[in-house]
Formats: sequence, C-alpha cells, structure tokens
Amino acid sequence: MCRRSGDTSDATLVEAGKGTQMAMLVRGGLVLRDADAPAARADILIEGERIVAVEPVLSVGPDTTVLDARERLVIPGLVNAHTHAHNHLAKGAIDGLPLELWLGHLAARVVGRTPHEIYVGAALGAIEMARTGTTCACEMAQILPWPTPEALDAVAQAYADVGLRASIAAQVTDLSVLHSLAGLAARVPVAVQAEIARQPPYPLAEVLATLRDAAARWHGAAGGRLRFGVGPSIVHLCSDAFLRGLAALATERGLDVQTHLCETKAEAVTAWRRYGRSATAQLRALGLLGPRTLLAHSIWLDDADIAAIAEAGSTIAHNPISNLKLGAGVAPLLRLRERGCQVALGTDGSASSDNQNLFGALRLSALLPRVTTPDYARWPSAADAFRMATLGGARAAGFEGHIGRIAPGYAADLVLLDLHATYFHPLNDPIAQLVYCEVGSSVRTVLVAGRVIVDEGRVTTVDEAALLAEADAIATRIQASLDGPLALMRHLGPYLDAAYRELSAAPWPAAN
Ligand SMILES: [Zn+2]
Repeated sequence: MCRRSGDTSDATLVEAGKGTQMAMLVRGGLVLRDADAPAARADILIEGERIVAVEPVLSVGPDTTVLDARERLVIPGLVNAHTHAHNHLAKGAIDGLPLELWLGHLAARVVGRTPHEIYVGAALGAIEMARTGTTCACEMAQILPWPTPEALDAVAQAYADVGLRASIAAQVTDLSVLHSLAGLAARVPVAVQAEIARQPPYPLAEVLATLRDAAARWHGAAGGRLRFGVGPSIVHLCSDAFLRGLAALATERGLDVQTHLCETKAEAVTAWRRYGRSATAQLRALGLLGPRTLLAHSIWLDDADIAAIAEAGSTIAHNPISNLKLGAGVAPLLRLRERGCQVALGTDGSASSDNQNLFGALRLSALLPRVTTPDYARWPSAADAFRMATLGGARAAGFEGHIGRIAPGYAADLVLLDLHATYFHPLNDPIAQLVYCEVGSSVRTVLVAGRVIVDEGRVTTVDEAALLAEADAIATRIQASLDGPLALMRHLGPYLDAAYRELSAAPWPAAN
C-alpha cells in the first residue's frame, strides 16, 4: 500500500500509477541493485517510468507517492527469456513425451484458436509471470495454421494490458512435419503423406506481409514496452526462401530474431544430415545469427557452434526445467559462459515447463551444472544465476542498458518481496536466499516502467478472476474437440517415434 507523502488517505497504487510523470519514493527497502552489489537499505526515487535516484536516504516533497518498503527485499524485475503464449492453456496436459512427439499433441491444442482464446492464454501467462516477479518476457507466439493480424494483435494486447514489458516474435514454419526429422519422410506411408499434402499450402508471402504490418503496429508500442520480431521456429522447418525473407525483414526494421537451436539431439543431427553442417552454421549462412538473435535451448552444440555464437554476440535462452521435462538434455552452461556466450534464463512455455515462475530456472541454472563437473571452482554461483535472469535477460529482450539493475536512468521495473517470509529468516545471504530459498511466493508488489501492476499480491491491471474463468472454459472446449486435430498425430506417431529413436542414438558430435 502506498500513500502520498504527508497524507493519510488510502490512495492505492493503481491510482498512483495512472499519472505517468508522477514521482514515487520506494522507501527504506533492502535493495539488491544487481548481482554484483551487496544488498543494502536504500530509498529509490522514481519519476515517470525511470529511476532517478538511489540513495541511503532521500527527502521528497508532499506530492511524492511513498511506497513503504521497509519490510521488503527490492530487486530488479526478472526477465523470462523464453516463453510461448500458445502453450499456457496446455499446462499439465502433456507428459512423458520427448519434444518430437510432444509437439504434435501441443499443436492439436493450438490449431484454430480464436483471437480471444489466444488473448486469454497469453494474458494467463503474463499474469503468472507478473505475480512471480517477472517484469519482461521474450515471447514466441505460434498461431496455427499460420499467423493472422488479429491473432498477433491478441498476443501483443495481452502483454500490453497486463502491463509487462515484452519482446514478442511470431513463431513461424513453412515446411510440413515431414521435414521435422531426418529420414522421417522415407518412413511415412503414402496414405499418411497424402493426408499431410491435403493441408492448404503455406501462404509465405502473405505471412511475411502480416509480420511486416504487425511490426509496424507493435514494435515500440505501449510506450516502448513492447518490441516485435520474427521467430523462425527451427531452422530445418523453414525453407531457405522463408528464412531469407525473415532475415531481410528483421534487418530492414531493426527487429529481434528469436529461434530454437538444437534443443534435442534428434534436431541437431537432422540439421547435419539436411545441410551437411550444423544448424548454427546454417543460421549464420542465412544471416540470422547476430547480436539481436535469441537462441532458445542450444543444448546440442559443438565447439565450433559455441565459438560462432560467442563471436556473433547472440544470446542463449537457457530453459533447464523444460529441458528436463522433455528429456532434451542438459545445456552446456559452463562451456557457453566460459567461452563468452551471452546467457539468459527462461521457463519455456507452460506446456513443457509447466509454469511461468522463473524462480525454478533461477535455482536450477545454478545447480544443474554441478552434476556435469566435480570442479567446483567452475560451478555457477547464486549471483551468476541472478545476473543471467536480470542483465542477461535485458540483453536477450533488446532492453540492454534500460532494465536489469536498480540504478538512476534505468526503467523502474522493480519487484518487492516480503522479508517476513520464512525463506528470508534468518537472513544469512540475501542473494543466495533469493536464488536457493525463494520460490516466487513472497512477491508482493511489482512495478513495470513505474506503474504498479501487482499491488500486495493483487494484479491491478486486468480482471484476473474473470480471465481464469475464461481460461477454464476455453480449455474445456479444447479438450472436447481434440479428437479431430489429434488424428494426424495418431497416424504419424509410430514413424516419428522410429525416427526420433534412430537420431537419438546417432554418434555425437556429428562433425567427428
Ligand atoms: Zn520454445
């Protein structure tokens, strides 16, 4: 609860957030400015969207709104560097399958959704992120069978309405599932191939035009909180012509590129058999590997790939929970970081993670590498994990230098956690307890660009209860109509299974 300085009224934070140039003082919190500074008591002065001062004690006039943070740990908002709005209604629905077979079950739940259904799913994920301290997301939204202006608007509007900051990419593919794994097409009987061929042809030119128009509407929208980009799903599910078109659009408009890279061994081996080189080399050859490229997963890389990614300045989104859920593998986090790759943390979509709470990834990113080497001098620290989730995420989302730390000039994207929580008692080491003890449940107040979007645990920007009820109703409709969309998956399943098993047993690294 915040009050005007010298005022005893119950003016809520929602009212305070309406004026964009209002001043707010976050008073007396235990402030963790960034991963490299010890937590210390400080006042934070915000004017409009930005932090203008961080000092042990600040004096303010009577018109300044005061947010009492004396019982709060104040951190920069977390950045979820990889998620998918189209997944959120499928949380907990698909289990026990690797990516290659899981994808068909997910697609059956996504295909043909209305813009309003897409909006509700996207809002659901954004709410979950906000309530657990994420203030910015890198979103790859897949609209099936292909993106429409209304569907893309629905995703962007959901982020805008909930109040998050986001880099949104339209996730696209123009090749059929037969291209998803090397050798799959040769295994699939003619009758099933004919069933796939009956799908309408992918309107490549129309999709590129749709993305171009959506970028004009959304890149820099919502007061600069939203960025828009292109999202080739996986390199070998896009034709070279499509990838070149996406690269040209990104260059022309200064857009972000988000893609999945070598999430599974089957994917990585497929690229080698398809192109005679790695997926990383193929992305680079097509002009899609650069400093504004975000590479999700990046598990099955060889040394040349890692060197190329470091040289290009691309960022890797590390999603340890999703990788474990789908049995994809353990990303070589130590090698990536030691060889100069930029790394951020993500949840991935709720159909594989199965939530949007970044605290799980925060903890696992510090712990998981410890099973790969006994050399404890190389193990990531809690501060390393926190740095990846803040400054690493800022770079991933295209907001480097604007978010990721609490300092004058940075955006007022702040998260206030309740220091009364058991996780912080006794308070031996704030950053270690944030990473190893906290689970996201202590998040009380969240600001994005100086606007309070969660106030004492309550989402202030949208009607959360109504959206949850709508999500339940939509999920019921999806469940009741799954039979048709799953028919192709039933026919293809045995062949996907065989191709997946063969590729997963192939020698690795493929270059040797
Ligand atoms: Zn993904």
